[in-house]
Amino acid sequence: MLHRVDLTPMPLEPYRPLIGEESITRLSELSSRLRGARMVHINATPYGGGVSELLRSEVALLLGLGLHVDWLVIAGDTRFFEVTKGIHNALQGGRYTLAHEAQEIYLHNSAANAGRLEGDYDVYIVHDPQPAAIRHFLANAQGRWIWRCHIDTSQPNPEVADFLSPFLQPYDAFIFTMESFVLPSLRRERLRIIPPGIDPLSPKNIGLPADVCERIVAWHGVDRSRPLLLQVSRFDPWKDPLGVLRVYRAVRQAVPGLQLALLGSMAHDDPEGWHLYERIRAEASDDPDIHVGSNLTGISSVEVNAFQHCADVAIQKSIREGFGLVVSETLWKETPIVAGRTGGIVLQVVESASSLLVDPEDEQGFVERVRDILQHREKARKLAREGKEHVRRLFLITRMIEDELAFICELLG
Ligand code: UDP
Repeated sequence: MLHRVDLTPMPLEPYRPLIGEESITRLSELSSRLRGARMVHINATPYGGGVSELLRSEVALLLGLGLHVDWLVIAGDTRFFEVTKGIHNALQGGRYTLAHEAQEIYLHNSAANAGRLEGDYDVYIVHDPQPAAIRHFLANAQGRWIWRCHIDTSQPNPEVADFLSPFLQPYDAFIFTMESFVLPSLRRERLRIIPPGIDPLSPKNIGLPADVCERIVAWHGVDRSRPLLLQVSRFDPWKDPLGVLRVYRAVRQAVPGLQLALLGSMAHDDPEGWHLYERIRAEASDDPDIHVGSNLTGISSVEVNAFQHCADVAIQKSIREGFGLVVSETLWKETPIVAGRTGGIVLQVVESASSLLVDPEDEQGFVERVRDILQHREKARKLAREGKEHVRRLFLITRMIEDELAFICELLG
């Protein structure tokens, strides 16, 4: 049996003041059309990273809408997740050779996971490359199969894309975050572009009293009388945490007393993260103003919320980024963010704040923008307020759910 994540249904009613009457009506109509349909979301991890963050809120809300939906998580050993991380990196354009043995590991685990999938569903939504091949091993399964890709596949490593392609072909439909991410072999009718969104009422994003945020951040060792720079991200080379350390050191020369918080969750499908975490801790060990935190040191959603609320400026130094939920999460707290001009990050930043997007290669650009924000707080806060409104209009999870349900209704005919 695949691991099932059990969630309590989340009613939509508390979202009404945030999303408005019309969204509520559309969501109710769509869900009444899907009542009785059995749906399942399948991914690689119940915690850590954007996909689990999305599913945690989405599945609870779908249950709250009265829909039949399960969330199942595949299993695999360390070698399997090393291979799938390699595939993930290669699809984002990284260097990786998918050796014959690695292909065998991927397929062997995929077959085993397919064998563990019990029950019949009308709609299967399979997230990212880790579980993608199970569809191949369930050739006779009825229902509609959707592959939902969350990563930036605009410049994939061709060998790895070719390896994966035959396992994606049997899907009925595909969802990508941006048009430019669509893998060429999948360009076809049954395709929808749906960017993700944040849950404004989750512990990560709910409005907390300022003094509570202050206490939480101080409790983790931050001196509230001095400025704070923040990056919240998995410890992943694509998020360039070592580059963040360099930017912090350079900005600190102009802004004495600056502190840095690097918060990163560890996911069990990401063995690479553990190595990077240790490396960052070693690099930061001689500077008491660098705070490295993770779920291992008590950083959970509420703490991330408080840090995003209290930071004077956030940075998202991504080199590639499927979407980057953290950008919307940060803007939701009206905190300015300097971010890499890459992938889905670009969607989330309003035109007026586009100067805060920096070419990922341009480290000096990050240094200058972060320093500017710290030296011109009011202007930056104004942009962040506009950013919050942009997120409210376009990047709340209820909009994503609406788009997905509409697509599923179409597929079911
Ligand atoms: N996150 C967290 N704690 C951390 C680091 C990250 O809860 O210490 C969350 C973060 O708030 C966001 C998610 O993990 O909700 C990361 O999603 P994103 O789309 O930014 O990147 P991904 O990890 O999917 O590449």
